[in-house]
Amino acid sequence: MRADIQEILLDEEALEKRVSELGAKISEEYDGMNPILIGILKGSGIFLSDLMRKITIPMEIDFLKASSYGSSAQSSGVVQLENDLSVDVRGRTIILVEDIVDTGNTLKYLLERFASLGAVEVKVCSLLNKAGRREQNVVADYIGFEIPDAFVVGYGLDFAQKYRNLPYIGILKKEIYQYRPKK
Ligand code: 5GP
Repeated sequence: MRADIQEILLDEEALEKRVSELGAKISEEYDGMNPILIGILKGSGIFLSDLMRKITIPMEIDFLKASSYGSSAQSSGVVQLENDLSVDVRGRTIILVEDIVDTGNTLKYLLERFASLGAVEVKVCSLLNKAGRREQNVVADYIGFEIPDAFVVGYGLDFAQKYRNLPYIGILKKEIYQYRPKK
């Protein structure tokens, strides 16, 4: 798998340090609020499991599955909800945990949905942000790292379901995929 990676962007040490910082910040800012961390599967699975162990206040978790990529490296722009929540979010404080915000289509869809379900407050914690590719006017409240316009895999992020188990985040070699940077 390593041979498919053009460059390691974020190694294990950098990821651990930043995830610890985010956990400390959330613990401080949400003290007494019992937030629900909602992981957007499958990409945010590793991030959420590491992040929650750095959070020192009472909290809950849930998951939903949304996709806009299909099996290609180019977002389809159409967000689909494949699995929904198992908890009632009415009156609750929510932190959406994303692997990456790219075009912003997924986030826009989810923020509108949670507002309509009656959540009191919805904040977003995304490990990665590709600000240069935004199509929607959405921002994450907590961001792990700003990254360039490249297709990345590892630490939960996939290409055609592979590479999620890499312990680092790396740029996938161009010959492995057909990715068109945004003009
Ligand atoms: P958006 O709706 O913001 O365009 O995309 C959000 C989703 O697209 C992310 O949760 C992620 O699953 C996928 N995505 C966006 N950029 C990348 C990338 O560089 N690598 C991988 N593996 N997935 C990406």
